[in-house]
Amino acid sequence: MWLVPENGKVGDGRLPPKTAFSALNVSPPLGISFPNSFSPRWRMRFAAFFLDGAARAYRHRPTFSKLVLVFAASGGGLVAYADARADAAAESPGVAPKKKVVVLGTGWAGTTFVKNIDSSSYDVQVISPRNYFAFTPLLPSVTCGTVEPRSIVEPIRKIITKKGGEIKFWEADCFKIDPENKKVYCRSDIGTNLEGNGEFLVDYDYLVIAVGARANTFNTPGVVEHCHFLKEVEDAQKIRRSVMDCFERATLPDLDEEERKRTLHFVVVGGGPTGVEFAAELHDFVSEDLAKLYPTIQDLVKITVIEHGEHILTMFDKRIGKFAEEKFQRDGIELKTGFKVVKVSDKTITMENALHGESSVPYGMAVWSTGIGTRPVILDFMKQIGQGNRRALATDEWLRVRECEDVYAIGDCATMSQRKVMEDIMEIFRFADKDNSGTLTVKEIQDVLEDICIRYPQVELYLKSKQMSDIVDLIKASKGDVKKEALELNIEEFKNALANVDSLVKNLPATAQVAAQQGNYLARCFNRMKDSEEKPEGPQRITKMGRHRFLPFSSFDLTYPFLEDISILGNLLLWAENKQPHNSQEIGSLLDIVPNGYGTQYMQASKSAGAQGHW
Ligand SMILES: Cc1cc2nc3c(=O)[nH]c(=O)nc-3n(C[C@H](O)[C@H](O)[C@H](O)COP(=O)(O)OP(=O)(O)OC[C@H]3O[C@@H](n4cnc5c(N)ncnc54)[C@H](O)[C@@H]3O)c2cc1C
Repeated sequence: MWLVPENGKVGDGRLPPKTAFSALNVSPPLGISFPNSFSPRWRMRFAAFFLDGAARAYRHRPTFSKLVLVFAASGGGLVAYADARADAAAESPGVAPKKKVVVLGTGWAGTTFVKNIDSSSYDVQVISPRNYFAFTPLLPSVTCGTVEPRSIVEPIRKIITKKGGEIKFWEADCFKIDPENKKVYCRSDIGTNLEGNGEFLVDYDYLVIAVGARANTFNTPGVVEHCHFLKEVEDAQKIRRSVMDCFERATLPDLDEEERKRTLHFVVVGGGPTGVEFAAELHDFVSEDLAKLYPTIQDLVKITVIEHGEHILTMFDKRIGKFAEEKFQRDGIELKTGFKVVKVSDKTITMENALHGESSVPYGMAVWSTGIGTRPVILDFMKQIGQGNRRALATDEWLRVRECEDVYAIGDCATMSQRKVMEDIMEIFRFADKDNSGTLTVKEIQDVLEDICIRYPQVELYLKSKQMSDIVDLIKASKGDVKKEALELNIEEFKNALANVDSLVKNLPATAQVAAQQGNYLARCFNRMKDSEEKPEGPQRITKMGRHRFLPFSSFDLTYPFLEDISILGNLLLWAENKQPHNSQEIGSLLDIVPNGYGTQYMQASKSAGAQGHW
C-alpha cells in the first residue's frame, strides 16, 4: 500500500494547484504529452491558441456576426468568443454550418455525452475546470493509497484525440448561463485575456449542462473551514495527507495523552455510501499499514461515523446497512446514529441528539459527507428561468430543461420530472376515445396502451407491482368482476382505475450510472436528430398531434456498459450480480471472498445494490 505521497514529502501543507494532471501529481497516460504545470508556458500556449483562433476567424469571417470579438466589457476584460460557425464546412458556400453544442462538465454525464456524440455532425465545445474524467467510485480508495490517482482519471484531451480531435476543450468554470442570448460566461484560472482575469464568453446553439453537484453542508457553521470533503481527486489527496499529518503529529514529543487521542480521532459525518466506504478504507489503512509504522500510538486511534438518521446506508437494501453496522461494531468503528452535527470548530465537533441533547467530541480530522447540493451557477440559472424554488434543475423526460429552449441538463445537477398520468388524464381519455363516444372499450384502451406506457412508465411499474399482466386487470380491479368484452369506462371510472399509478413516480438517484446513461441517451438523440424529423421514434403525443421525435429517457434501454473499461470493477460487479445474498450473514460470507480489504467490499455491496436498482 502506498504510504507516502508521490512528491515524497508528507504533510508539507502545500495545497495542490487546481485541476489538471499536474495538479493531481499524476502523469498523463502514454501517448499524451501534458505540461507538468500550468505555469506561464501553458498560459502562453492557451493564449497563442486563442489568438490563433481569433486570427483565423478574422481572416475568413469579415462580417460582424461571425467575428471573434475581443472586447473589454464593463468591469473589465471579458473576452467574447463568438466563433459560432468554426467548421470548415461552414466556409463553403451552400453548406449549412454545423450547429454548436457546448457541454459544461467532464464528469460522468458530460464525458459519456462527449464520447458518444457524432462530432462530425456538430461543432462540439467542452468547458470544464477539470481537464480529465475521474472515476469517482474509487475515490475512497485514493484517500488511503489503495488506488493511485492516475489510475482513476482519463484526460479529456485523450478522449478528444480518440474521436479525431474535432472537439474543442476549454479549461474553465462556467459562472453564468444566459439562455436568452444563448451564451455562457466562463472563467479560466490560468488567465486568457489581456486583463488576466481569464473571463470569456462562448455562444451555443445547444447547451448540455453536466456540472454535477457540490458537497452539501446545510450551512452548518465551521464545516467549510475545518472539514474535508470527498468529491474530487484533490480532495482524496488532501485527506490522505491529512491522515498522515495526524499520525506524525501524534508522535511528536511534547504532546500529552489527551492531545494525542484527539489528534488520532477521525470523524466521518454522514453514513451514506461515501462516508461508509471512506471509514472502512481508513480502518483498513490504519490497522493493516499504519499500525506497523506507528506501533506506539496505534491503540489511541479511533474512527467515528456520525449519522443523523437511525441507520446507515439507508438508500440500499436493509441487509447491506445491517451488515455494515455489524461489521463496524466488530472492527471497533464507533457509530453514532441519531446525531446531527450542528457546529464544527478546529478541535471539536458539536452534535445534537433527541435523547442526549447537545454534546461535543474532540477530533483530529473530519470528513464531511452528507449528500449533495446545487452549484451556484445552477442556482443562478434556475432563478433566471423561474425554477428558483427547486433543489435541482428540472428537465422533462427528454432531458430538456423545462421552459428553456435548446438547453439540456444531465447527471447530478438535474432532476428529470416525470409527467403524471393524473395531470393529463382528460387528454389521455380523449386520445383513447377514438369514436368520441364518451366511454372507452377494452379495445380502445389496448390500442393506445403501448404509447401510454412509454409516455408514462409508471403505469407499467404499477401493474408489475400489483402482479397484473394487463391494464384490463387494473380496470377490472377497480370496476368489479365484469367480463372483459363488456368492459366500458366513462371518464370518472377511468380516473378511478388509474388513481394510484403516479405513486410509483420516483426521482432517479444521483449516481454515476444514471449520469452516464443520460449522457449516452442524449448523445444518441443528437446523433439521430435529422433522422427523427422524418422518422420519429417516440410515442404518439397525447396532447398534440403526431409523434414525439425520441423515446423518453425512461424508456430508453438503460443497459450501459458502465464498468466495461475498468476490468477489476467490471468483474466485481458481475460477481455481485451473480450472487444474490439473502441476509446479512450471507452478505458477509460473500463479501469475505473478496480479498482486498473491506473498503472494497462495501463497494461491492453498493454495486450489488446497483444491480438491484438502488444505486
Ligand atoms: C466518493 C464518491 C463515490 C461514489 N461512488 C459511486 C458508485 O460507486 N456508484 C455510482 O453510481 N455513483 C457513485 N458516486 C456518485 C457519482 O460520482 C455521481 O453521481 C456522478 O459523478 C455524477 O456525474 P455528473 O457528471 O453529474 O457529475 P460529476 O461527475 O461530478 O462531474 C461534474 C463535472 O462538471 C465540472 N464542473 C463543475 N462546475 C462547473 C462549472 N461551473 N462549469 C463547467 N464545468 C463544471 C466538474 O469539474 C466535473 O468535470 C460516487 C461519488 C463520490 C463523490
